[in-house]
Amino acid sequence: MGRRPQLEGDCLMTIEYSTLYIGGKWVEPSSSAKISVVSPTTEQVIGSVPEAVEADVDAAVSAARSAFDDPIGWASWTASERKDVIERFALELEKRSEETAQRVSSQNGMPITLARAFEGAFPAVMLRYFADLAVSTPQEEIRPGLLGGSTLVSKLPVGVVGAIVPWNVPQAISFLKLSPLLSAGCTVVLKPAPETVLDAFLMAESADAAGFPPGVINIVPAGREVGAYLVSHPGVDKVSFTGSTGAGRSIAETCGRLLRPVTLELGGKSAAVVLDDADLAKSIESFVGATMINNGQICWLNTRILAPQSRYGEILDTVTDIIGSMKIGNPLDETTQVGPLVSARQRDRVEGYIAKGLSDGARLTAGGQRAGDTGWFVQPTIFADVDPRSTIAQEEIFGPVLSVIPYTDESQAIAIANDSEYGLGGTVWSSDPDRGAAVARRIQSGTVGVNGYQNDPTAPFGGIKSSGLGRELGPEGLASYQYPKSIYLDASAS
Ligand code: NAD
Repeated sequence: MGRRPQLEGDCLMTIEYSTLYIGGKWVEPSSSAKISVVSPTTEQVIGSVPEAVEADVDAAVSAARSAFDDPIGWASWTASERKDVIERFALELEKRSEETAQRVSSQNGMPITLARAFEGAFPAVMLRYFADLAVSTPQEEIRPGLLGGSTLVSKLPVGVVGAIVPWNVPQAISFLKLSPLLSAGCTVVLKPAPETVLDAFLMAESADAAGFPPGVINIVPAGREVGAYLVSHPGVDKVSFTGSTGAGRSIAETCGRLLRPVTLELGGKSAAVVLDDADLAKSIESFVGATMINNGQICWLNTRILAPQSRYGEILDTVTDIIGSMKIGNPLDETTQVGPLVSARQRDRVEGYIAKGLSDGARLTAGGQRAGDTGWFVQPTIFADVDPRSTIAQEEIFGPVLSVIPYTDESQAIAIANDSEYGLGGTVWSSDPDRGAAVARRIQSGTVGVNGYQNDPTAPFGGIKSSGLGRELGPEGLASYQYPKSIYLDASAS
């Protein structure tokens, strides 16, 4: 399979894999192409894996197809039978959770404390939730008809899923897809992003140890061209994509042409609406969690802070003090709050937006610079007095940059929050939870938090407008991997 990693101090030694996990086996790749992973902290290569090419995708889809089409295979099992294997998968992931968290941190700069929660622990929670949900949700019902007969309505797995994920939260996002699709009886070809391939091999090891039937889970590490090949592959029944809005549009076009079901979780530019009765000091930990975790590299982060004129100076000072003083450092250090950006390209992109903010007249109150000589670090950056129509207030930056925008009254705050091409997340901060919920109802977005933000596995997650199509998590997430089928019984009765 490859050489297992070793930990030395707080650095991972180079991790090398030479085979791919396809069809329940570790197989030789079809080409000698490799993906090298570079640490955003040290700028050194920390590992490499085979790069899947089109022939590997063909093999993976074929394996997933055979596993799905097997008349006594995974799709034909009961939800309880599948739950047994999924539970073993969760246990195997838990055995590797610290190593997974360290690999993610080392690859994308996610602070290790966050990586332990999001990447180490959360996948097993989601697996168990969906396995239980599939068991407890009847998959068939007899519906009395209006025309004299009755109908057997069943929920069937959609088939082979092509799942494509980004680098920012690679494990949790993979399991937003794997957990419901496996519980529903689907099989999968998963394509991780090239920046975060090393953790995907731990996932493959866990799947292998769990004893899934061959071909239920297949992993093809590769870039966007191979991703596009997977999306249009004739053996794929559904596509589930998380990533940028640009790539999502292109995938939606392909799926539209093929009439192939697709779930799209895309970009965001969410707003934190701070009402005039908010006690930010009391909820500051939640506020930081909603606005500036993972170095600003999370789709639903509230990167527009809307502050009432009546308390503007005080709120700006609080945000500047707390976020501007977050500790920057090696993401493997437990005291680090802000790690590096994933790549030099991402760092350059974020710096471009900081320059644009300055040239558009926004006032810098914190950060704005690189941090350190090595690694792709950018200081947490706060802009004040931001014009809500300006570029930094409208475009997704995907880095540690917040825009503070003044408003005069609640209606104007809601109008500014809704003046966005995106609609993914959002928060409302108020000492009165009912008032907070009333404002939250008026925000055009798939998800909104009151005095905090938490994606709970039981509630649907996803966006409107340019933030995506469809929902993950909750019963809606399970249903997105099923299609309803009606068998009209006693049809002659009508
Ligand atoms: P990206 O779109 O460049 O890449 C995401 C994944 O898609 C990668 O695996 C990439 O190789 C692949 N890919 C890219 N173009 C493709 C194409 N045309 N066809 C098939 N596959 C393709 O995004 P990124 O830079 O890796 O991730 C950051 C973006 O993801 C941000 O816009 C962020 O908001 C978004 N995101 C959204 C959510 C959500 O749940 N809504 C979650 C995380 C990230």
